[in-house]
Amino acid sequence: MAAAAVLPPVRPPPPMDVDIEEDDDQELDKVFAQVDEKSLDQIDSAEPMAILAYYRHLLPWKHLFLWLNRSSSPTVATRNFTHREFAFTLQNEAYLRYQSFSSAEELKREVCRLNPARFEIGPVYTAKPKDRKTVQKTMFKPVSRELVFDIDMTDYDEIRTCCSGKGICKRCWAFIAVAVEVLDATLRQDFGFKHLLWVYSGRRGIHCWISDDEACSLSDEARKSLTGWLDVVKGSANQVKKVDAGPINAHGRTLHPSLRRAIGGEGEASGPLKRAFVSTILEDQDCFKQKSHSDTLLELLPASEADAIGRLRAKWEKEPFRSSTNKWTDIMEQASRAGDKKRNAIWKPCLEDVILQYTYPRIDLEVSKHLNHLLKSPFVIHPGTGRVCVPLDPANIWAFDPTDGCPTVARLLKELQTVDADAGVTGKRGDKVLTNVKGNWERTSLRPFVEIMDRHCQAIMKEQKFIKQEMDSKSVDAW
Ligand SMILES: [Zn+2]
Repeated sequence: MAAAAVLPPVRPPPPMDVDIEEDDDQELDKVFAQVDEKSLDQIDSAEPMAILAYYRHLLPWKHLFLWLNRSSSPTVATRNFTHREFAFTLQNEAYLRYQSFSSAEELKREVCRLNPARFEIGPVYTAKPKDRKTVQKTMFKPVSRELVFDIDMTDYDEIRTCCSGKGICKRCWAFIAVAVEVLDATLRQDFGFKHLLWVYSGRRGIHCWISDDEACSLSDEARKSLTGWLDVVKGSANQVKKVDAGPINAHGRTLHPSLRRAIGGEGEASGPLKRAFVSTILEDQDCFKQKSHSDTLLELLPASEADAIGRLRAKWEKEPFRSSTNKWTDIMEQASRAGDKKRNAIWKPCLEDVILQYTYPRIDLEVSKHLNHLLKSPFVIHPGTGRVCVPLDPANIWAFDPTDGCPTVARLLKELQTVDADAGVTGKRGDKVLTNVKGNWERTSLRPFVEIMDRHCQAIMKEQKFIKQEMDSKSVDAW
């Protein structure tokens, strides 16, 4: 009822009844006929009719269902799905919260009816969110949801030199790539989580959804303490030193094993953060080339080494645009000049803090702290770019290019039309093309991303099957 009350007055009526079957040829042809081809040619197109065609024919609803349902059964809906909150942002920006559905089909039908610009996923509640007014207020509570993380390029604006604001390119993707590499290892190795889904946000960020039962059942308190552990780069934009990885004694500092693994031991390429510091911070981004940036670097060096800092400052003033790699080499020389004892006790911890400050994942931890936070669903379209929020394989995260490696709604619809044309069919698609297809997405560049989602869902289902078998055998024993 609440949904109907805030429907946009100018929203165009859906052009036809929604059919859940993806391979209804005539319907697909009608949708193509209504899509504004001119707007599709614009690279940033997120034209409403194109989005509707995408919802109807390309978004992998079954995978979304399997992922959220977290069950050994591929068909039976559990509370993880039926009691789950969905929130829709309509084309006119109206925001509908507390939507819930009994099946993937019902969700698809409602999304196609309302044609929202995007939709978000929230927690599983004690009752179906759509029925919340029929239960006592105090009885309606969130009980579980995936543990989520959000990394956004905004938090790298003071470091990156290639783009700013809403911009992102293959070069600044490196900040996200190293963040994923390190956070993925930390969450798996230090926390023991297995079911991590990394999803490109469609513009300049990435989300991580963890579906392990242990993660989903974490309370707000547990989420807060867990995120505190990952809060390494702290402080506002005005704060120069943002990292303090632990107290330093006369012999130096023993780093936490997780941070040590991320930084690495001796040598330039011994850990992901050191590798990224050299290749991205020093070489590619040349982050300390500008005087204001190298002044910041000097402020991060050990204050007790004023003479060395003075020598560095004098040298760099003579050569204002000395490269970051050369500046870092100058710092290492000063550290060596101080002798082994001072180098290990004073310089090394300080330089490791610099590496952490420039490369450790900058996580928007507010997103992770609350069970009832809503986060944009995988596979929706980013309204500003027309790009699909696609799952990514963390093992190939460095290879991804957000500017042309991510399918847009325009590109996918064109691919579908091209496949039709190649099949030599007018008005109807060829039988050959449709043989054994799981969905239209298989015939487009969305396919590898759905396959990542597919493997992720299969792993969750396999584990749930194992848990069910264990429980069944225990109940037989008890009997
Ligand atoms: Zn860039």
